[in-house]
Amino acid sequence: MKFEELGLSEPILKAIKECGYDSPTPIQEKAIPNILMARDVVGLAQTGTGKTAGFTLPMIEILHGGRAKARMPRSLILSPTRELAAQIADNFDLYGKHCNLSKALLIGGSSMEDQIRILERGVDVLIATPGRLIDLFERGNILLTDIKVLVIDEADRMLDMGFIPDIEKICSLLPPMRQTLLFSATMPPEIKNLTKKFLSNPREVAVAPPASAAETVDQFRVEVSPRAKNAVLEKLIKQEDVKNAFIFCNRKRDVDSLTKWFKNKGYKAEAMHGDLAQSHRSETLEKFKNGDINLLICSDVAGRGIDVDSVSHVFNYDVPVNPDDYVHRIGRTGRAGQSGRAWMFVTKYDDKQLSAVEKRIGKPIEVVEVDAGAARKDDDRRKNKTSDASSRKSNSDNAQRSDRKADNKKRGKPSKDNNVDDVSGFGDEIPAFFNN
Ligand code: AMP
Repeated sequence: MKFEELGLSEPILKAIKECGYDSPTPIQEKAIPNILMARDVVGLAQTGTGKTAGFTLPMIEILHGGRAKARMPRSLILSPTRELAAQIADNFDLYGKHCNLSKALLIGGSSMEDQIRILERGVDVLIATPGRLIDLFERGNILLTDIKVLVIDEADRMLDMGFIPDIEKICSLLPPMRQTLLFSATMPPEIKNLTKKFLSNPREVAVAPPASAAETVDQFRVEVSPRAKNAVLEKLIKQEDVKNAFIFCNRKRDVDSLTKWFKNKGYKAEAMHGDLAQSHRSETLEKFKNGDINLLICSDVAGRGIDVDSVSHVFNYDVPVNPDDYVHRIGRTGRAGQSGRAWMFVTKYDDKQLSAVEKRIGKPIEVVEVDAGAARKDDDRRKNKTSDASSRKSNSDNAQRSDRKADNKKRGKPSKDNNVDDVSGFGDEIPAFFNN
């Protein structure tokens, strides 16, 4: 099939051509005609299938020709993470560049004043994370009564992140006469219920997931002590001919300290996690894309959905807590048929998590010995030298931890063991299940 057969108009076809796309992907073939016929659509499709263009292209077609009114946007795209929202906004600019439409990107971590100013001028499409949208609505900065098309992207991810109540709230604020499109990689019962409640006679379209990263990426693991991780990582970076790499840590504080460690050694490294200002995160991503830096050290939420071509390596500095995150992490490399290599550091404390990851990918991960002899010796020397200091530090860490627990108790917050409050990967929100 050709794009010309889908019912898209000339300025959109021109933009598609300029992107270099030859023909629509299966999800685009199935979704676009239905969306243009004003049907509600449930799309079962993963990242990498072209689903973003699958809903952005027909949305531009629908909006093209109408006019934006101040504070009354005509369409809304909800995304679980800031990075994904920013990526959708980039796609919207790309595909809509000959259509003269306007957009507002409403995400946490960016200036609310700037967002309000854009809203007041009037926009055609809002691309938002649920929390920031609700904030702006409650402050009276947006009217949602003119929304004609709603897209809920990565609905299953919204569920994981505890956003379903927010989505329900937002749906109840929109006019009932609208078109709703919901995309999700999986269809758990909660998402099925959501579609029953908020979509009207939807057309279901499904496509097979793209070749799984678990099959196209060469994967290895190294058994390592927690203290030797940095040295082993440096050794691997040198011996593996790393062009550029994502390095994933489970904790934000490890993202920061590892970045500092690499920078001190003269590497071109930057950190990405949910506590950093959005402008800084966007700048860092840009630097990584254009090669100004080649090591991006990040948390799961920051790494999710980031679409950078030709990433040679992924390093899992920690075994992820959630095995799905492993698949997302290694999927940052080996994209578009290129080869990719993924390494994971496994300590003696990670047996349970490693089993979960291997079960998730359906095969064991090859163990490779990395001679970190020098690293270990250094490590031992440092351990001896600092054993007094570290026992002092560990006492003070424990004291801080019990202070925090007492503080949480005072505020009625359930206590979280294992530093769960430091676990990264959930953006601005700690999902409800962590508090149970
Ligand atoms: P997505 O699944 O939306 O994250 O898209 C994955 C990648 O596919 C993005 O880099 C898009 O630019 C690209 N893409 C989308 N549609 C097409 C198409 N019809 N032909 C080739 N590449 C595409």
